[in-house]
Amino acid sequence: MTPQKRALVTGGAGFLGSHLSDSLLGEGWRVVVVDNLLTGRRANLEHLRNEAGFEFIEKDICQPFDAGHVDYVFHFASPASPVDYMVHGIATLQVGSLGTFHALDVAHKYGAKFFISSTSECYGDPLEHPQKETYWGHVNPIGPRSVYDEAKRFSEAVTMAYRRYHKVDTRIVRIFNTYGPRMQLNDGRVVPNFMKQALRGEELTVYGDGSQTRSFCYVSDEVNGFMRLAKSNEPLPVNIGNPNEFTILECAQMVLKVTGSKSRIGYQPLPQDDPKQRRPDISKARELLGWEPKIDLETGLRLSLDYFRKTLAEETALK
Ligand code: UDP
Repeated sequence: MTPQKRALVTGGAGFLGSHLSDSLLGEGWRVVVVDNLLTGRRANLEHLRNEAGFEFIEKDICQPFDAGHVDYVFHFASPASPVDYMVHGIATLQVGSLGTFHALDVAHKYGAKFFISSTSECYGDPLEHPQKETYWGHVNPIGPRSVYDEAKRFSEAVTMAYRRYHKVDTRIVRIFNTYGPRMQLNDGRVVPNFMKQALRGEELTVYGDGSQTRSFCYVSDEVNGFMRLAKSNEPLPVNIGNPNEFTILECAQMVLKVTGSKSRIGYQPLPQDDPKQRRPDISKARELLGWEPKIDLETGLRLSLDYFRKTLAEETALK
């Protein structure tokens, strides 16, 4: 019998890292998650507690670490919502820089493949629309979002350097707005905010005039894209996201429809450097990976509704 392969998932207690861990276990990998629980949560891994082949190590990867022999490193550790990365600005820069070096060192040591979660924020407030992987971006290097944007751009640079200098076999995914169960209710992102507000009958807080756009991908589609990219041989960044673009006002209206809420829509100031438009060009993922998302926004919000209802009820009961 061939021994099972072992994957390391940094940030595996987070929203995306935990769904990725589920997929890897589902495909027969052993999985070790390393997470310092800064923004990740044990609750996201609770269902894996008694799973054979699953381990959790609470550790900050900004310090050098070694979780034993692994065949694949999935580097997902980082605060990822604008509210989280602005609260934890220094930690975000550290995990994108030091954490990425340390995760790459593990891959290098064991001859493992390396997969890094990068982001559409690499494109900043884009002047090219939709965004192709070849676009170098329009990022304010000293603005409030730079702690995340520049950390992720730097982490792509380190990844490419380990590929060139140390021959580590690397993949880079650029993730566009993703939503679904296990998002934190208070991470400040638009979908959990609107869901929470709609279910509580509170005003939905649209920032600016709501004309800025985002393209929302349901989590199962997103993770399916990760798995395909992980198995491919593509070394350069690949956009994985849903190209159906909505204004934030349309997103608010969709949340009202799906929840059946009578909440009103209110307006608040637009945060500095908030990108005006964002939509992935996914031609590369379509051609290279045969991947495209299947779940539209309305369906995905309906699939997420139970989770948001249940989590909100638990939170209310604790108060
Ligand atoms: N947004 C909003 N109301 C909220 C939260 C976010 O109007 O309660 C807007 C935000 O200004 C941005 C978009 O929704 O234009 C997406 O924000 P999010 O924080 O989800 O992620 P981003 O795409 O900016 O990283």
